[in-house]
Amino acid sequence: MPVITVERKVLEKNDQIAAVNRKLFGERKITAFNLLSSPGSGKTTLLEKLLPQIKDIMCGVIEGDVQSDRDAQRINSLGIPVVQIVTNGGCHLDAGLVKDALANLDLTSIRLLFIENVGNLVCPANYDLGEKMKIVMMSTTEGDDKPLKYTPMFRTANVCIINKIDLLPHVEFNPDTARENALKINPELSFFSVSAKTGEGMNELADWIRTQV
Ligand code: MG
Ligand code: ZN
Repeated sequence: MPVITVERKVLEKNDQIAAVNRKLFGERKITAFNLLSSPGSGKTTLLEKLLPQIKDIMCGVIEGDVQSDRDAQRINSLGIPVVQIVTNGGCHLDAGLVKDALANLDLTSIRLLFIENVGNLVCPANYDLGEKMKIVMMSTTEGDDKPLKYTPMFRTANVCIINKIDLLPHVEFNPDTARENALKINPELSFFSVSAKTGEGMNELADWIRTQV
C-alpha cells in the first residue's frame, strides 16, 4: 500500500494549492477553464479561433506542454497574455505549476483564463487546478468510445466539445454514439460540436462562454 499512500499525499497537497488558486480566481472575479484532451485534438487551434471571437472579454492563457513553447507562441501572436509551462516530461499540470504561472500573468485585467492542459486523458483528471470547469475535447479522428475508455476524465468534466466535425464524412466517428457513451459516464455533461478549422459551431461555443464570465 505505500504507493497508494504516497499518491494520496500528493493529491492532498495538490488539492490544498488548488483551493488557493480557486480563492484567488474568486477574489479577482476570474473564470478559469481547464481544457483537456488527447494530443492532437486541436486544443490550441480551438483557442486560436475562439479568442478573437470573444475579444470583448479580457482573456489570458496558460499553456501546458511536455516540451517547447510553440503553443504559447501561437497564442502570443494573437496579442493575448500567455504563460507557457514546460513540464519536461511531466504528463499533467498540477495546481502548484498553475499557481507559479499565475504569478507571471497580470491578473488585474483578466476576466477569463484558459488553462490548456498537457495532451493526456488519464492523470490530468486527478489534478484539480482550481478551475471553475473542466472542458474535455474529443475530435472526430479519434474513437467515439473514448468516454468509455477514459471514464474519470469524462466523469469529472462539465463540458464536452466534439471538434473537427468538418471531417465527419471521411471518418468512422459517430457523434451520436460519442454523446451517448459520454452521457452513460456523466449524465450532467453538456456538449458543443465544432470545427475550429471552418468555424462551424464556434458562435454557439462563444455565446455560452460569455454566459460564464
Ligand atoms: Mg496545444
Ligand atoms: Zn500525469
